[in-house]
Amino acid sequence: MTMTDSPLGAHLIGGEWITAGPTTTSANPARPDEPVGEHPVGDASTAADAVTAAVDAKRMWRDMGYKRRAEILEAAAVLFDQRADELAMLATMEEGKTLGESRGEAVLSAETCRYQAAIVKMPTERIYPTAKPGETIRTLRAPLGVVGIVTPWNFPILIPVWKIAPALAAGNTVVWKTASNTPLTSVAIAKVFEDAGVPAGALNLILGPGSMGGAMIEDERVDGVTFTGSVPVGFGIRDAVTARNGRVQLELGGHNPAIVFDDADLDVAVPLVVAGAMGSTGQKCTATRRIIAVGDVHDELVDRLVAAVKDLRIGDGQDPNTAIGPIVAQGARDEVAAGLDKAVSQGAEVLATASTPDTSSCFFAPTLLSGTTELDIWTEEVFGPISTVVRVDSEDEAFELANATEFGLSASVFTTDMWRVDRAVNELEAGIIKINAPTTGSELHVPFGGEKSSSGHAPREQGDTAHDFFTRTRSVYINPGTPNPRA
Ligand code: NAP
Ligand code: MG
Repeated sequence: MTMTDSPLGAHLIGGEWITAGPTTTSANPARPDEPVGEHPVGDASTAADAVTAAVDAKRMWRDMGYKRRAEILEAAAVLFDQRADELAMLATMEEGKTLGESRGEAVLSAETCRYQAAIVKMPTERIYPTAKPGETIRTLRAPLGVVGIVTPWNFPILIPVWKIAPALAAGNTVVWKTASNTPLTSVAIAKVFEDAGVPAGALNLILGPGSMGGAMIEDERVDGVTFTGSVPVGFGIRDAVTARNGRVQLELGGHNPAIVFDDADLDVAVPLVVAGAMGSTGQKCTATRRIIAVGDVHDELVDRLVAAVKDLRIGDGQDPNTAIGPIVAQGARDEVAAGLDKAVSQGAEVLATASTPDTSSCFFAPTLLSGTTELDIWTEEVFGPISTVVRVDSEDEAFELANATEFGLSASVFTTDMWRVDRAVNELEAGIIKINAPTTGSELHVPFGGEKSSSGHAPREQGDTAHDFFTRTRSVYINPGTPNPRA
């Protein structure tokens, strides 16, 4: 069976695809006249049903054992590879990014499933010395129980999978509240896991507004919540979940700097700064929002950035010539435009923009600004393809300015001086530090996350630390229960 055999849009609750209730349409930001499809819109009662299904499946999924769960994830990996084109098309239609980027998410989802399947076979438990003859003291990694997953639209395939795969692998059942902008992509992902053999109730998907997510995270039966999205929503979730003593993991906004020193190779630096700032239409938490030019490199750097930004090809993500797609939706586009207008009214100078097609009002021209650190856009996250250049005179100022933000997700440094690199890796307050590489992009076997307002304090997502959030450690003392006959 392929995913197209099931209804395009439906909740998945307790193994049933549910279409009842009011419906809405998922839009294509590049083609306003071609909606992607219909789907139901759930509410608090949908969330409660999904939590009940996850509670009911908890013991069955835990007791199935790591080996069978790993086999199922390996089967999901095969399906993510096989269905990469289908999944990519859906993600591009709903989110707008290029088909190449969407396909990359599907392929990395396959790799994530394979990696997390292998991680549960690693020795993560420990044995301790004991004072008592005959006793064994060991730790046990128990699943958390029911995990609530709340995801954004900007990586509609990969972010869900990097949460779902380790959650399931560790023996948790899942209720996944996906983003309203990318529901049908989410349905196709849930179908992959179902077809791979995830049994009824182990993975539940609910489609609907933030308030439905709010009902899910407030449900006492949800043991832990992992969230990726904006700071205000994330902090609200943190407060609600910790108030009822649940466990919470947050990946939130960023305001990532790229520092370019005068010893950088600009042939290397310029394309990487532009890719980091404008790639995926600037709709990445790790996008380069601030470009810090140190000393005399400033003028040549700006000239070259201007040329590169003007050269960007904006268009429908389905067109192979497109480098940058539209913004995900009209409302999001209006917010980005308002951020730009405010920056200009505060004195920012527009150095360069690219041209956009007039086939959809969701297109937005990538924009390079120059200005001062007084601009709101220098500290506030505007989630689109806008980046601001500021000049400083010294290395000290560059690092100080890079850190002068509430965020701490990623930071780039372009230099060929290894002593500067040494200082950068010790001084930058960011969860991800890139040297001569863009602020965007990461490898999925490496821990991922930020500092300050960019993350919570739970263990990092992805990599071998992903398992830590989804398990609870218990210390177990095992004694023979009979006197030692040889004593
Ligand atoms: P968002 O508005 O915070 O939404 C994220 C998710 O939360 C969506 O599923 C949303 O549902 C849901 N939601 C909204 N209100 C809720 C509530 N009260 N309770 C529970 N769930 C609720 O973020 P976004 O606009 O989708 O994504 C962009 C943001 O995500 C940016 O700030 C970006 O930096 C951040 N991000 C961070 C990372 C990272 O790893 N650090 C990665 C990607 C994105 P609806 O869609 O129905 O509103
Ligand atoms: Mg949409």
